[in-house]
Amino acid sequence: MNISMQTTTAPKPKPQDESKLGFGQVFTDHMFLMNYDEGEGWHDPRIVPYGKIELDPAAMCLHYGQEVFEGLKAYRSAQGKVLFFRPEQNMQRLNKSCERLCIPMLDEDFALEAMKALVNLDQDWIPRAEGTSLYIRPFVFAIDPAVGVHPGKHLIFAIILSPVGAYYPEGINPVRILVETTYVRAVRGGMGNVKSAGNYASSLKAQGEASKLGYSQVMWLDAIERKYIEEVGAMNVFFVVDGEVITPALEGSILPGITRLSSIELLRSWGLTVTERRISIDEVAAAAAAGTLEEAFGTGTAVVVTPIGELKVGQEDVVINNGRIGAVTQRLYDELTGIQWGRTPDTFGWVTPL
Ligand SMILES: *Cc1c(COP(=O)(O)O)cnc(C)c1O
Repeated sequence: MNISMQTTTAPKPKPQDESKLGFGQVFTDHMFLMNYDEGEGWHDPRIVPYGKIELDPAAMCLHYGQEVFEGLKAYRSAQGKVLFFRPEQNMQRLNKSCERLCIPMLDEDFALEAMKALVNLDQDWIPRAEGTSLYIRPFVFAIDPAVGVHPGKHLIFAIILSPVGAYYPEGINPVRILVETTYVRAVRGGMGNVKSAGNYASSLKAQGEASKLGYSQVMWLDAIERKYIEEVGAMNVFFVVDGEVITPALEGSILPGITRLSSIELLRSWGLTVTERRISIDEVAAAAAAGTLEEAFGTGTAVVVTPIGELKVGQEDVVINNGRIGAVTQRLYDELTGIQWGRTPDTFGWVTPL
C-alpha cells in the first residue's frame, strides 16, 4: 500500500526552549491516518497536516471505549541518527490489544513503515537536548455512528508525534508511592494486559487521591486477594531482595511492558537472578523489616526506570535504601538509556535506525 502525503503549508514554530517541553503537550506538523471499513479492510493510508478529526456524536469510541493505543519513542543520537527502541514489539502489542477489543488487526510491518514515514517527515521536531525524545502515539478507535454495543465496523488507525522533555532534568529522584487498598486497576480476564483507554480512565481517581496525599503514584494490588503487587501507576515494578530481582509474573492483569522485558533480559545478562512470580505486599514489608529489601523501581517507556524511595503500606512508611537510588536501578537506567540514545553498544539488536 502506498502512503499518500499531503504536507502542511503552515508549519508551526518548534519549541525553542527544550527544557520546558514537559510530556505530551506539543504536537508536530503532521499525522498519519488510515481507515478501516468492513468489506474493504484497512485502506487509504495517508500523512496529512496535524489537525482536528471530525467525528459523528454517536461515534462508538466515545460511548463504549473501543480504543487501543501504543507509546514508544524516537531518540536522536549524539551522531545525529534517529533511533527506535524495539518498535516491532510495540506493533505486536498493538495487535494483541486490537485482538482483545475486537478491532481488526493491522499489518505490523506496514504500521512500522507508516510510523517511520511520519517520523522521517517530522524529524526536525525531534529535540536535541540531553534526555529529550519524540514520543510516538499510535492508536485505533471505532467511529461507527451507532449507539448500540457491538464491535465497530469502521475504524481509524492514527499516529501522532510529540516532542517530550527529559523526565529527570535534575537527576533521578526516588518517588513516594501509596499502596492502593480501595481501588483496583485490572482483574484477570479483563483488559489490564492490553493498552486500552478505559484502563487509564478507571485509574484516575486513585491517582488523584494519592497525589492529594503527596504521593506520586499508587501501587496496585491484585483485584481478588488484594495482596499481590501488580504495577505502580502505569509502570511495571521490580524489587531487589537479598540480591535477587523479583517482578510480578504476567498472569493476565498486568501490562507486559517492553521496558520490563528489556530490563529482565539485561539484568539476566549481568548474571543476576530475576524471578517472575507473585510477590505480596506483606512479603515486601517483611523484607524491609528484616533489612533485605534493597531496592524497588518502576519501568516504562516514558520514564525508563523510576526508583521507589518510600512505600505507604497501610499506616506504615516503608523506606527503601534510605530513599536513595540503588546500584541495580542506577545501572539499569544508565544501560537502557545508553542503548536507546546510541551511546552504548547495542549487543541485543534492540535499536532500529530510521
Ligand atoms: C505502557 C504501560 C507500561 C509500560 O510498558 P512499556 O512498554 O515499558 O512502556 C506498564 N504498565 C501500564 C499499565 C502501561 O500502560
